[in-house]
Amino acid sequence: MDSTQLAQPWDVVVVGAGTAGVPAAVQAARAGARTLLVERTGSLGGTITVGGVPFPGLFHAWGRQVIAGIGWELVARTVAESGGTLPDFASPPQRHWQHQVRLDPAIYAALCAEELAASGVAPLLHAMPARAEATANGWRLELCTRRGLVATTAAVLIDCSGDADLAALAGAQLVQPAETQPTTMMYRVGGVDPERLDAAAVEAAARRAVDEGRLRATDFGYDPRRVDPLGWLRRAGDNSNHQHGIRAVDSAGHTRAELEGRAALLRAYRFMRAQPGAEGLRILWAAGECGVRETATIVGEGVVTAADYLAGRCWPDGLCHAFYPIDLHTAHADGLDLRPLAEGVVPSVPRAALLPRGTARLLVAGRCLASDRLANSALRVQATCMATGQAAGALAALAARSGCDPRAVPIAEARALLAAHGAILPPLG
Ligand SMILES: Cc1cc2nc3c(=O)[nH]c(=O)nc-3n(C[C@H](O)[C@H](O)[C@H](O)COP(=O)(O)OP(=O)(O)OC[C@H]3O[C@@H](n4cnc5c(N)ncnc54)[C@H](O)[C@@H]3O)c2cc1C
Repeated sequence: MDSTQLAQPWDVVVVGAGTAGVPAAVQAARAGARTLLVERTGSLGGTITVGGVPFPGLFHAWGRQVIAGIGWELVARTVAESGGTLPDFASPPQRHWQHQVRLDPAIYAALCAEELAASGVAPLLHAMPARAEATANGWRLELCTRRGLVATTAAVLIDCSGDADLAALAGAQLVQPAETQPTTMMYRVGGVDPERLDAAAVEAAARRAVDEGRLRATDFGYDPRRVDPLGWLRRAGDNSNHQHGIRAVDSAGHTRAELEGRAALLRAYRFMRAQPGAEGLRILWAAGECGVRETATIVGEGVVTAADYLAGRCWPDGLCHAFYPIDLHTAHADGLDLRPLAEGVVPSVPRAALLPRGTARLLVAGRCLASDRLANSALRVQATCMATGQAAGALAALAARSGCDPRAVPIAEARALLAAHGAILPPLG
């Protein structure tokens, strides 16, 4: 796409081609909207691919599927194409994560690209918005491209940046907690059999290294009170380190997350390779970016609170389900505040949580939707982000078609469009 094509008016511009952004753009384009998808990295998939977290959850609750649609299509096709297997969803799992789906991230990203092309979305990678100005009937957007700023217009914008970056540029009010959940650098180690090491000696050495400041307990696990180098080895690294006190809400904070994530990796690697019998430790794989759990949410027309979430509240403008325990990673106690949902409860997400208060023709989807911190710790997971993305895509396409704000789209019309594209709709309250 050259800058002349880019400057043509768009019905829908989606910012962020990650977990929520791809289903959002695909849904908008399938509904006939001329759709541009802008992404700051060189990959599709966001946290699933670049962040190294290719295990979306949860699509099933209490023995039935509660989230489907475009995200699920991509997940199921990835599993089928890469020869993987889906978990047995027939009965509730012992541990919630056993119902997450393991994906090949390279195939997932490639299938996202294929689906964008099939549905007619125009992707623009290595670009990000620099400015968003409201106009009489939409937005004027300046995009920062490799060769400078390019201006374009959109009838409706969707922020799927995970960080509410576009909403901030558009003047929306954000909630930016002073303490956010820790970041995690995803990587996999190998080359050492933990059962052949002198466990007592390695643990004693690790405690000494922590006391001397060469290591942090959270380089090996979530619990800041316990140094567990062998647990880290048994898990092969993976999702088992925490970096605290980082607010990755802007470029400077995000830079700090990246640098501290790599520093944590290096501390753990150097420590373990210095242990007798562990000299052969290797980093087999590391994510392209440090994983960020929490930055900012919007102040919405409505908000999902933990009480709403835990009660499975039904909304008059419900658009999709959500399903996951409250899952707040912290610097306190054992590092994780995990609260399962009561049996039979399936929460849902209203349109009002996707609408930044005081703005027009702007939607958000993914982890930055309007929710309190505890609710957000559950709503942020991938299946829910995919479902809110598709919901925002449907609202945006319908609003662009009739020249109105997404608030004015009849909820029955949005739900019918979503159902036509495989989504599962929550009961209305
Ligand atoms: C370590 C870790 C472990 C997790 N474990 C699980 C798990 O087990 N199961 C689960 O389901 N979920 C898990 N999650 C949560 C989940 O992965 C994320 O919350 C979810 O993927 C967020 O989706 P999103 O669409 O909001 O953002 P993302 O998927 O991060 O997508 C945002 C996209 O926007 C792009 N972007 C950002 N800013 C801009 C900008 N200004 N301009 C252009 N593009 C921009 C980004 O590059 C990215 O591609 C985990 C998260 C982390 C960090």
